[in-house]
This record gives sequence, C-alpha cells and structure tokens, in this order.
Amino acid sequence: EALSKILDIKGSIRVFCRVRPFLLPEKRITSEPVSAASERIRVKLGGTRKDFEFDKVFPQEANQGSVFVEVEPVLRSAMDGHNVCVFAYGQTGTGKTFTMNGTNEHPGIIPRALEELFCQASLENSSSFTFSMSMLEVYMGSLRDLLAPRPCSKAYEPVTRCNLNIQTDPKGLVEVEGLSEVQISGSAKARWWYDKGRRARSTSWTNVNEASSRSHCLTRITIFRRGYALEGKSEISKLWMVDLGGSERLLKTGAVGLTLDEGRAINLSLSALADVMAALRRKRSHVPYRNSKLTQILKDSLGNGSKVLMLVHISPYEEDVCETMCSLNFAKRAR
Ligand code: ADP
Ligand code: MG
Repeated sequence: EALSKILDIKGSIRVFCRVRPFLLPEKRITSEPVSAASERIRVKLGGTRKDFEFDKVFPQEANQGSVFVEVEPVLRSAMDGHNVCVFAYGQTGTGKTFTMNGTNEHPGIIPRALEELFCQASLENSSSFTFSMSMLEVYMGSLRDLLAPRPCSKAYEPVTRCNLNIQTDPKGLVEVEGLSEVQISGSAKARWWYDKGRRARSTSWTNVNEASSRSHCLTRITIFRRGYALEGKSEISKLWMVDLGGSERLLKTGAVGLTLDEGRAINLSLSALADVMAALRRKRSHVPYRNSKLTQILKDSLGNGSKVLMLVHISPYEEDVCETMCSLNFAKRAR
C-alpha cells in the first residue's frame, strides 16, 4: 500500500535503462561509448556527450535480483488492483529476453514474478486471490495464442487460424476473442504453463533468433481478488509482461522482402506505443491506441490508473552507438 502510494506520487509511467555487459567476442571493444551513473546514461558520440535521465539505471554489472527489486513495487500495485504493463525494449541482442525470461541460473522478471505473486498472496489471505494466465504473440499485426490446446502450424504463413480479434466491451475493458486463459493455482503450475507458452513460441519459427526478434511476446496474469468490490476497490487487475520485438532500424541489416515488412511492422507498433505513452504522460485528451494491435490489446492497461514500467535495453559497444541513441531517444519520448 505504502509503495504504491510512492508510485502514485512519481507518476504512473516509469522508464528504466539497463546496459548489457560486454559478452560478444565477435564485437571489438574499441572504446566504451556508454557510461552509467545512478539515474543517468551518458553517450559519447564523436566529440560530443549526451546525457539521458531515467527513473533508474542498471549498469552492466547489475544482476537479475537487483532489477527485480525495482520491479516489485509494480507487482504490488497489480495485487492492489491496478493494471500494470512491464515492457522490455531495445535493439536485438541487448538483453530484453534475458531481463524478462532470463536463464536457468539467472531467472528474469517473469519467473520471479510468478513466484512472488503467490508468495504475496499467501502473506495476505491466499483464499481471496485467484490467478490466471494467457500468453500471446503479436507478429505483423496477427495475434497468436501461445497457450492454445493445439498450437498453430509450424510455418507462420497462413495465420488466419491464429488471427484472434480484439474486442472492447462497453466498460472499456479489452478482451482478445478466444484467447486461452488458464487457471494457475500455484507458482509451480504457473511456471509449467509459462514454459509451455515459450516452447509454443519458439517452435513456430524456423530461425528462432531471427524471427522471434520480429514479434512481441506478451504474458498476462489476471489477478482476481474476491470481496474487494465491497470495499469499492477493483476486483480484477491485469499484469502484462512484454518482451518487445527488436527496435533496430532496417537499413543497417539491408533487409529485403519479408524481413523488411516484418521490421516495418515492429517499428510501426513500437512507435505507436511511444505515441501512446507520450500522450498519457502529457495527459492529452486523445490517446492514439488504435494505431497498432499492440496498443489496442493493452489499451485498458496503459492509461487510467495503470502503472507502466518501460525497461530500455542498450548495448555497450561502439558500433551500436547509433542504435543506442535511437533507443535512448525513444525512452525520452515515452518519459
Ligand atoms: P534480446 O532478447 O534483446 O535480443 P537476449 O536477451 O537474447 O537479447 O541477449 C543476448 C545474449 O546476451 C543472450 O545470450 C543473453 O543471455 C546475454 N545477456 C543479455 N543481457 C545479459 C546480462 N545482463 N547479463 C548476462 N548475459 C546477458
Ligand atoms: Mg529476445
């Protein structure tokens, strides 16, 4: 309760930045263009320096636990009845999936959240909480249900069977028509479904690294709190954890054909997301949700008392400095 009050004071959109460590041996380390201070990223570009402010900065050496500590307050907000979106944004290879999913040794935000929610529920009154989970992928404007009993065909092309529609009810609540939603009774079950969803995602791509970076992967936990309506509080809240498609611009990779279209679709939806965040931050009367499938799906979880946490990922390498600047400018637009 106290933590979510602090969040209210700070506003509902927070933007963090995480710098990934030097890991790729194929990339040369000629200089270190990016330096991280407590709430600031400084980029050296030519002879000039540019500073970017964040709500929080995670330097290269920051571990998964220290990232999760800063995410926990929004999980509490979700338990408290707020809709929440946590996004991982950045160029491919900067650690979005590492942050959201992580590895077996270094679990990321989603596996930790799946533990933490049940832990919190048991501290309060676990019998009053019910959780359910959905997972979907957004690829070139099509939606694919990752927890469907029988997954869609391996080749992605004819997506009609997977092409779910987005509905908004009169109260403004968004629902993806026909999307599977499974009850999760505990963290082990939650983890089982989550792993199943991740497998469904990866088998749909022939070249996993290439194509999965061209789609957004959304995990939704719906939290139902019995009896809260009596206190005038919301009974249902949604927690979205989103591994966004790679933000890299297309020219560099020299992409043609399908890849070019894929990249365009990603860029359009990321830019639509930035526009929505900018409009919300500036309290504009018109918020352009309709410009992409991504923002349509998340419409009821972005404005109106929702909490948004954007984790912008950047590369420490000199040769990525242009992409880094683009990502930092995106963050500035959203903030
Ligand atoms: P993205 O999802 O943005 O394309 P990945 O999460 O797949 O990037 O990261 C690329 C590689 O770098 C992976 O092998 C990942 O495990 C590793 N990696 C990324 N960030 C970190 C980090 N903070 N610490 C250790 N390894 C990392
Ligand atoms: Mg990834």
